[in-house]
Amino acid sequence: MHGANEGGGVHAAPNTLEPYWMPFTWNRRFKQAPKLVAGADGMHYRTPEGGAVLDSMAGLWCVNAGHNRERITTAIQQAAAEMDYAASFQYSHPAAFQLANQLTAMAPHGAFDHAFFTNSGSESVDSALKIALAYHRANGEPQRRRLIGRERGYHGVNFGGISVGGIVNNRRTFTQLPDVDHLPHTHDLEHQAFSRGQPEWGAHLADDLERLCALHGPETIAAVIVEPVAGSTGVLVPPKGYLQRLREICDKHGILLIFDEVITGFGRLGSSFAAEHFGVTPDLITLAKGISNAAVPMGAVLCRQGIYDALMADAERQGGTIEFFHGYTFGGHPLACAAALATLEVYKEEDLFARAAAMAPVLEELVHAFDDHPRVSDVRNLGMMAAIDLKPWPGRPGELGYELFARCFDKGVLVRLAGDTIELSPPLIAERHHLETITATIRETLDEIA
Ligand code: PLP
Repeated sequence: MHGANEGGGVHAAPNTLEPYWMPFTWNRRFKQAPKLVAGADGMHYRTPEGGAVLDSMAGLWCVNAGHNRERITTAIQQAAAEMDYAASFQYSHPAAFQLANQLTAMAPHGAFDHAFFTNSGSESVDSALKIALAYHRANGEPQRRRLIGRERGYHGVNFGGISVGGIVNNRRTFTQLPDVDHLPHTHDLEHQAFSRGQPEWGAHLADDLERLCALHGPETIAAVIVEPVAGSTGVLVPPKGYLQRLREICDKHGILLIFDEVITGFGRLGSSFAAEHFGVTPDLITLAKGISNAAVPMGAVLCRQGIYDALMADAERQGGTIEFFHGYTFGGHPLACAAALATLEVYKEEDLFARAAAMAPVLEELVHAFDDHPRVSDVRNLGMMAAIDLKPWPGRPGELGYELFARCFDKGVLVRLAGDTIELSPPLIAERHHLETITATIRETLDEIA
């Protein structure tokens, strides 16, 4: 250990890879053979050496309009020159209100009237869980404190998110919220393998919520949170009728339904939101990623009519001032709002959600060409998202996936591997030839190593 007066200060430091503790990364392997990008444009990244890397993942499910869109970059530059920062605690700035208006206007089924701003998907999730608890308290049901998530759900990495989430590696090391339970996930190889779009089988899995209601007492349950399509655990598409059934059971028991649309929002399924695509209206929607085309970190929670009003009315009754004790220093940051407003313009002017809907069958056709590959155990897709499950190398889970990722990167294609599952989520500007290059590179590489 260094003494208190050694090091520190702002001075020239060696530029090595070691001090950066990378998130969700096999650090030891990365630092032996780093994969770096230094520029981006449209469908491509650029390496420091100047090589092009085709992006099959929209960064990380987020650069929906493609990279370095001039309109967005310019809006951020102008906003930065105008005003570096304004909080939204007891004072605010116009762009935050403008964005809240736009988001509620485009929200599904005209049913959402307020937006709460955050800086990430994880913060959106924890904010939504708190809003659900606060709503029930305001409505005179403070005993509704239980939160229901789902196995294989990913809701970010804050304590609320990992508690309702259902990924063992994100949970086993840490403590969790009490009063949480989980629905079963909806993936079943016996009944759904190689489904195109929504599987026919599995709507009844939503009935497990009735079992949890019977077990805990429905009057103790505040909210159910699900990703309409589970993204991070490999594009698990909801069976036909499943989300409708969840909605019905939540309605029956006065439970709020939260859709985590951090991935599915902003065109991924060919519509503004998955709620619209599936024709199901949740009570809260969590957003991030594509909201600002990822150019500045941002997230939001959309609240259905009546939720905000309930908190206002309760504070009025109690004679209180601040109605909701929650918020982030950077929530609604001026640069993030400028980026999001410009992003929404790009989505609209280029009709990118309709473009995604039009390109989805091409992605479906290309990924299902892997159905009979000997190394592949399942393929799934909906809209502009798809997953290919690989059979792991025996006793070495995740290593085939990493090798595939590393080799594809070196060949100029960024492919995301979640363990041994290939996940595809290209920018919505992708053309057929981009998708063909991505899948051809995957096939060639898989054949080399598998
Ligand atoms: N919710 C979902 C559905 C996500 O896919 C993610 C990130 O991938 C998150 C929440 C967390 O978002 P963030 O990484 O911005 O905190």
